[in-house]
Amino acid sequence: MQDKVVIVTGAARGIGRGIAEAFRRAGARLVVADLGALAVSRSWVYEMSPRAELDRTAGALEALAVDADVTDADSCRALVAAALERFGRVDVLVNNAGVVKIGPLRDYEEESWDRTFDVNVKGVFLMSKAAIPALEAQGGGAIVNVASIAGLRGNANMSCYCASKFAVIGLTQSMAQELAPLGIRVNAVCPGIVATSMWLEHLARDERVAASTKTSNVGDTYRAITGRIPLGRDQTPADIGAAALYLATADNVSGISLPVAGGLA
Ligand code: NAD
Repeated sequence: MQDKVVIVTGAARGIGRGIAEAFRRAGARLVVADLGALAVSRSWVYEMSPRAELDRTAGALEALAVDADVTDADSCRALVAAALERFGRVDVLVNNAGVVKIGPLRDYEEESWDRTFDVNVKGVFLMSKAAIPALEAQGGGAIVNVASIAGLRGNANMSCYCASKFAVIGLTQSMAQELAPLGIRVNAVCPGIVATSMWLEHLARDERVAASTKTSNVGDTYRAITGRIPLGRDQTPADIGAAALYLATADNVSGISLPVAGGLA
């Protein structure tokens, strides 16, 4: 990865930051993208990352910070253009930005369904479409999509999120076939349970999740959920970063969706 140029979306915090840190340690030059100043107008059931957080991450990793909304084609093109302007090349795209909202299908709001698919699925499409010409111009490269173990098995009250992550795995397999002649490898990493805003600000606060674990506060609920992981601990952003780095550098691997979930299936 020495001097390779890597774009990570949703990189201000959580798993995206962990992925960016792994690539930085491997010597890459980084473009960290997140909603930034756009976050104020993109409210969700839990807080999206604010601009200051993106600045902190970029500062810590000596990275170029770019405000970008992966659901917007112009924004995706501008992100790739900013990477090319600063570094002159793009070698790896990590499509990490994602959102979740739990809830039974019969009550699920259409807007929540659309937003989840816009970020989790259309975002992968738009960012990949924007980056493919740059990757091709380098004679190839790698795309790593952040799916989920929720993309491998359905779960009650998670229909929308699971369907979106199944879609990411379908996209990964199809893009791998289609882009192989261009020398572009496409893989996905499927995290298990990571203590980020998704879990701590939303899923572990849900009354149905709490009831299923017979717990009454976020910390206890999270511990009860992660207690089901066979290897006995939750996953960290660094675990996912190591897997993303592997997928970006494994020269003869394409089209796989790699669970990093401590044996959780
Ligand atoms: P997180 O909420 O901490 O991070 C997601 C980031 O994406 C945030 O910084 C947010 O501001 C950004 N984002 C949201 N919408 C965006 C948009 N339209 N454009 C650009 N950026 C946007 O959550 P996380 O857990 O770090 O999630 C990262 C990825 O990992 C997601 O794709 C998620 O589905 C996946 N994942 C998480 C877990 C887990 O247990 N936390 C498990 C499996 C998969």
